[in-house]
Formats: sequence, C-alpha cells, structure tokens
Amino acid sequence: DLVRIQRALLSVSDKTGLVEFARSLAKHGVELLSTGGTYKSLKDAGLVVTEVSEHTGFPEIMDGRVKTLHPRIHGGLLGRRDTHAAEMTKHDIPPIDLVVVNLYPFEATVARGAAYEETVENIDIGGPAMIRSAAKNHDFVTVVVDAAQYDELIAAMDATKGGTDLSLRRRFAAAAYARTGAYDAAISQWFARELNDPFPTRFVVAGTRAQTLRYGENPHQQAAFYRDGSNRPGVATATQLQGKELSYNNLNDTDAAFELAAEFERPAVAIIKHANPCGVAQGDTLVGAYAQALRCDPVSAFGGIVAVNRTLDGATAAEIAKLFAEVVVAPALDDEAKQFLSTKKNLRVLVTGSMPDPAAAGTMLKMLSGGFLVQSRDAGRITASDLKVVTKRAPSAGELDDLLFAFRVAKHVKSNAIVYVKDGATVGIGAGQMSRVDSSRIAAWKAGEAAKAANLAESLAKGSVVASDAFFPFADGLLAAAEAGATAIIQPGGSVRDEEVIAAADAAGLAMVFTGMRHFRH
Ligand code: 5GP
Repeated sequence: DLVRIQRALLSVSDKTGLVEFARSLAKHGVELLSTGGTYKSLKDAGLVVTEVSEHTGFPEIMDGRVKTLHPRIHGGLLGRRDTHAAEMTKHDIPPIDLVVVNLYPFEATVARGAAYEETVENIDIGGPAMIRSAAKNHDFVTVVVDAAQYDELIAAMDATKGGTDLSLRRRFAAAAYARTGAYDAAISQWFARELNDPFPTRFVVAGTRAQTLRYGENPHQQAAFYRDGSNRPGVATATQLQGKELSYNNLNDTDAAFELAAEFERPAVAIIKHANPCGVAQGDTLVGAYAQALRCDPVSAFGGIVAVNRTLDGATAAEIAKLFAEVVVAPALDDEAKQFLSTKKNLRVLVTGSMPDPAAAGTMLKMLSGGFLVQSRDAGRITASDLKVVTKRAPSAGELDDLLFAFRVAKHVKSNAIVYVKDGATVGIGAGQMSRVDSSRIAAWKAGEAAKAANLAESLAKGSVVASDAFFPFADGLLAAAEAGATAIIQPGGSVRDEEVIAAADAAGLAMVFTGMRHFRH
C-alpha cells in the first residue's frame, strides 16, 4: 500500500515552514504545483514550481474565488489509479499524489471582528474542495492540512524513498475531514450569530485538542480536553506555570472556581471541591479574603482548588502554600507569589492573563445519551436595584451586602443550594441535596462545624444571612435558617406558598428579599 509521491499541489494561506517543507519534497523528486501566492513564495526561494493556471490552462479568476476548481485538478485528486487510469489518460489528467492546503483564515478573520463582506470573502471554497477530494481518495492520495504535519510526512517519505503508506494516508484523511468539518462549523456558528439564531436546525461545535488526559472523571474512563476557539479568558486558555499535569477533574473544578471568583469586584477567593465551593470570601485584601474563605470549611478545603480574582500577592501565596491545594488559578502572580508557590513542586499553578466577564453571553452544552442540550450561559447577576423587600423588616446595609454576595455564590453551588454568609464570607454551604430543607440543615450544621474548628463558642450561622438558589417551597427551610440564627434571607420568590413563607419570616423577625431570578445549577 506504499504510494510514491510524484506530483504535489501546494496552496497555503499560512506560509509557515512552507519553503523548507517544499525543499524536502523537491529533494525526493516531487514535481510541485502551486497557486498564485504560494507559487510566488516558492519561486522566490529558488524552487522549481509550476503555476496551477499553467497546469490547467485556465487563469485564476474572480479575485481568486476560482483557482483550483478545475477537472484537471480534481480529476488528478479523485481519480482511482486502478479503475480510472484509462479515463485519466484519455482526458489527459495527470495524477496529483499529495495536496498541501491550509485554508483562508476564516476563524481569525471573525476573531478580529472583520466586517461582513470581508468575512464572507474569507470563506475558502477551492481549498476545502481539494482537501475533501484528496481525503476521499486516500487509497492513493496524501492530504496535509496543517504545517504541524510537515515533519511527520517528510519523515515518512525519508523512511520509504518518497512514499506514504495507507495507515498514514488514512490518519491524514481523518484529520482533513476534521479540519473541513471544523471550518464549516465556524462558518455556521458565525452565520447563527449574524442571524441572531443561537439554536439553528443543525448545531455544530468545533474544538481543537489541547491535551490528551491521563483519564476521565474516573481512571477507567478515557478523556481529552479541547479548546473551542472563543478565547474567553479562563481555565481553558490559561498557561500552567508549574506542577503536575492537569487532570479531567482538575480542569472541571478549576473552571468552576475561576468563574465563581470572577463574580466579585472586591478582592475575592473561592475554594472548590468537586465543583462546589467549600469557602468563598471577599474583603479589603486577598490575604484577608483567603483566611475567611478557608474558615468556612477547612476540612473540605484540603486538596481543593483556589481561585482569586486579581494578581496573587506573596502574602496570600504564603498562606495558600500552607494548605494542601491541588490547583491555584489567578489572572496573574507577582514575583513573590511565584517564589512561595515554587516550593510546592506538585501544586499546579495557572495564570489566565485576565478575568472573564461574568455577564458575557456564551453557550453551554450538556451531553445526554443520544443527544445534547444547548443553553445560553447563566449570565444573570442580581444587584440591589433588582431586589424586592417582602417582609416588614428591610435588610440593613450590612445585611444587604452579604445577601447579594450570598446569592452570587449560590449561583455557583449545585442545586439545591443554600448559602450562609457573614461579613463577606460564606460560613455554611449546603449543596446538591434533593430537598431544599436538607440543604438548609446541612448548611446550618456546617456553620456550627466551622465555628468549632475556629474555636468559637457560637455557631457562625448566628447573625448571618442566607441565600437560596430557588424559592422555598415551604417555610421549613427558612425556619431551619432562622433557628440557626440567620437574620435575613435572599431568594427568588415565586412559590405558590410565598405568602406562608413571608408570614413565617415576619414571625421570626427576619428580613427577606426576592430576586425574581433563579440560579439552578446541575
Ligand atoms: P495563494 O496564497 O497560493 O494564492 O492561495 C492559497 C489559498 O487559496 C489557500 O488557502 C487555498 O485553500 C485557497 N484556494 C485554492 N484554490 C482555491 C479556489 O479555487 N477558490 C478559493 N476561494 N480558494 C482557493
């Protein structure tokens, strides 16, 4: 199944490594064909090369829209060297054994916000057509779509006196269709945005593999990590400064941690375990916020993920270094912080460059067996002006700050979520329970445990405020909070029993506000 490469067509927008690669092909005696710009680069470098227009006897026309769309090109790519050989001879179609194409930079054109006309002009037609022709005929033809494949191809040719075997051609054909698939996905996504149609009849996603992971959520599962090309600042685009390789769970948890930290304007720290926060705090300084976040649940924080929302300083890093943390993620680290963390060889440290906009639009995908769900990301953010006071007592200014903070945290806790907050820090979090009252009880109990760990006589729930990610269907969850010592409640409202719940709050002397917005998270 070895096919010797005698004739190659090169047509590339990204000319990285082109000349050196073409030289290696020439050394193997390969005849080179090329389109206008690529031809010029090769010619200027002193290579012997034939222009495609000379090969087809037809000029490149319509500003390059039609360059290679010609039977002498596509026949040379698609013709089987056995059953079609006579036809190829009859129509004077020489075989083309290798196609090297990288496409008009459509994705980059969209990314830099080019105008509609320019974006359309950057939809490559002839390139994908050649890639698909060559890939279909991989029994005989080799197709290269990325400069990163040049070395492997040359190595294969060096090892076989200028040929490729079927297994390489198959792998390259698969990569070729992945490339044209991703390219059309990018075009389709762009159209969906232009047409304001986020959920078109056919929904396509494209990602580029960033890393093959050691395993998935569990060691018997296989996994890989892909970037979607959106360049949203965050974990998927972060740089790892140090530490062991990131795992599937690391990436998932670190993303949750960083998105949560991004919610706050003041210096804030989020500590995450199993994609739920076990401590979140904001304060005047990062180091202060870290101490408060850790106090919430120091037991769970062991082996946790720490996210901060501004440059990580030395003082905070020194404190983090005392904990056994799996990952630290920050928009930046100062030199002192880098030094402190470098002593912890295994600790993974990620820098993102900046913070993501928590209110930015985006799309979330969730796989089902045999399908998937698509929704816009939860960019909802409640501010003081959205709140409706429903009890006789209105919250104090201090309570109000904590209520808003608690509700932002609750947005990032798996439902049912109940979050106790005092002085800008969570003191008890109830996550992922099937009943809201259970989450309430767990959160109150955790606040007592946190107090014990801090050698405090009184539960941290005393004088706290409570957020619920969705309405209290009954008064019981709210009463559990009042019993634990909470003084104010924030919740969406909207239950058929709201009146009963409000009456219970009034009877207990609680202040309660409704947000009108729910933050389920599963
Ligand atoms: P060059 O710089 O060599 O003039 O053009 C290279 C680019 O043209 C490549 O990205 C290739 O995919 C693209 N290309 C090749 N043939 C055609 C064609 O017939 N029509 C269009 N629109 N693009 C082509």
